Amino acid sequence: MRFVKEPTYKKYITKELKRFDDRNTALSRGAVEGNKYTKMHQNCLKNLQSIKPGKTIIDHATWVAGATVDYVVRANLLGRETKPIYNNEYRLKNPNPDELAKLIKEKAHWIGADDVGIAKINPAYIYTHWGNQNVNYSHAAEVGDPIEIPTECDTVIMMVHEMSYGVIQRSPGIEYDTDIEYSKGAWCASSLATFITELGYRAIPSVNELGINIAMAVDAGLGELGRNGQLITRDYGPRVRLSKVFTNLPLVPDKPIDIGVQKFCEACALCTRHCPSNSIPNGERTDEAWNEQNVPGMLKWPARAMKCLDWWVKNGNHCSICIRICPWNKPNDRLHKFVRLFAEYNILPKLVIYFDQLLGYGKQVKQIHYAQNPEVELISPEE
Ligand code: SF4
Ligand code: SF4
Repeated sequence: MRFVKEPTYKKYITKELKRFDDRNTALSRGAVEGNKYTKMHQNCLKNLQSIKPGKTIIDHATWVAGATVDYVVRANLLGRETKPIYNNEYRLKNPNPDELAKLIKEKAHWIGADDVGIAKINPAYIYTHWGNQNVNYSHAAEVGDPIEIPTECDTVIMMVHEMSYGVIQRSPGIEYDTDIEYSKGAWCASSLATFITELGYRAIPSVNELGINIAMAVDAGLGELGRNGQLITRDYGPRVRLSKVFTNLPLVPDKPIDIGVQKFCEACALCTRHCPSNSIPNGERTDEAWNEQNVPGMLKWPARAMKCLDWWVKNGNHCSICIRICPWNKPNDRLHKFVRLFAEYNILPKLVIYFDQLLGYGKQVKQIHYAQNPEVELISPEE
């Protein structure tokens, strides 16, 4: 891993990046264009009746159970400023930003984050206005309300939450780890925000609200942007969810990293080949936007996010095939850490990809349990 002066995406920027409107994310557009996320859940319930492998009542119940804490914390604490519970009287007199950065990371790990990075906020990555999806779940504002992070809160603490390797292998069956990681993100961001406010500083916790997580996580040295549009971390690849806290606590930011993702993605494109909705472009990078879900001005592989969401609706649950199939998605053990060095230093990437496929990595694993027996029937709760 190499620390670099500027994030590896920076050399691909061709013109000034404009702030993105949260009303244009696929999930927000989907809410306007026919409640697509709700339709996906309705289709999930339809799948229960046909006892499809990986889509049974047990899989569904596990998925929704994982979302419990996320729903409660989002509706009450995320996307708005945290108020101190007890300490309105004191703060540190001469805070040491270097020591505080170490302390914040220690506390974030203690609370439950798997990795932590700190960045100065790039205003281009703060959404311009609240969008439907984030308003529907957080109730922190109205759709179309402008978003401004207070100027003195110029720092963001980004946290990584590892998703289960085994559960990701289920996709496009119900991959129930996304939502429990959102719950962990909600727990970690809100708890860390309380820690900061009890120190006498300002904190705004968030999971998906307020800004573009992936760009801020790259700036905070947690990974690089991949062809699949996701953060590729060194230890878990794209198999992560993110949460964050905006703050005025004085903290020394981290340096961005280069782990070799840019060149590797040029040689790979497995996510493109395996995407069931053709949402991830093949070929060269482009700085054009296909639609209003893309930000123009940076050479990358802009995803067709509405096509992706439409596939989720048809599938009856969200999809993580582009995480499952990615060669960076590996258990973080000694063997895979060693092989990762080839990818990091761009040594024979085509051979790495060839063996990845030959050895069967990235294949779907269908977990069988008793609810999939043909004799198991569903009845109404009233019966
Ligand atoms: S989530 Fe599924 S449908 Fe969407 S881009 Fe990834 S592989 Fe394609
Ligand atoms: S599957 Fe390949 S091309 Fe896609 S993000 Fe992963 S490494 Fe990059």
